[in-house]
Amino acid sequence: MATAIISNSGAGSYTIVHVSDGDWRHPEKAATLATVAVEGGGRRLASMAVAAAKAYRQSEFNEYFIELERYAPAIGAYLREAGFSRWARAYSDGKRFDIMTTNIGECLNAALADAHKLPIQCLMEYIRNMLQQWFYERRGDASKMGGYITAWAEGEIGKRLALSRNWHPEPIDMYRFNVHDGHFGGIIDLKVRTYTCRVFDFDKLPCGHALAAARSHNIHPYSLCSSYYQTEALLCAYADPIMPVGSQAD
Ligand SMILES: [Zn+2]
Repeated sequence: MATAIISNSGAGSYTIVHVSDGDWRHPEKAATLATVAVEGGGRRLASMAVAAAKAYRQSEFNEYFIELERYAPAIGAYLREAGFSRWARAYSDGKRFDIMTTNIGECLNAALADAHKLPIQCLMEYIRNMLQQWFYERRGDASKMGGYITAWAEGEIGKRLALSRNWHPEPIDMYRFNVHDGHFGGIIDLKVRTYTCRVFDFDKLPCGHALAAARSHNIHPYSLCSSYYQTEALLCAYADPIMPVGSQAD
């Protein structure tokens, strides 16, 4: 899937970056638009684009995007042409923008900034060594987590439980509830794991609305969490150690 985002490329400039599967056909536009972004106030534009990209509901996205289009019409047109489903969570039909929120290509580029000038063999060894260290540290962190779900997920559930303490869901049937949080109301379906706020749908972690409904029926929050958040899944991800290549002579 091709992705268009605005990223901070250093020295106060913001560039529209593509993580492309070969679908992107207008690379020259990125440079033009980067200039527009800097001249037009990159930081503000970037925050608008990020807010639009991370919005859960399409109505919320539309508010941010209309503001962005007014502020920078050229970039608005460019992002519209790229297709909302390629960069905005609210229009995503896959998991790229919910579970995988990190741009891995950009992360690795930043991590390898110092090593870019190394000869290829040294660069490969640098990457191998870096991954060895990452896997070791993350395996260690995961093994210290004693809970059924990861420490981060546990913290999120705790915050959402506290937030939804006084929300009173109205039952519709066995799985569906009408939940109003004082600002926003909608129907939560615990069977298909959806709610109008779309946080539950995208995060695969119950939002406050889902937790309020679950609490009213004595449903344990863990049963609503995706297996992605289980400590066991995290341990499995880093289970295999990265080994040194070793000497050719041996
Ligand atoms: Zn919700």
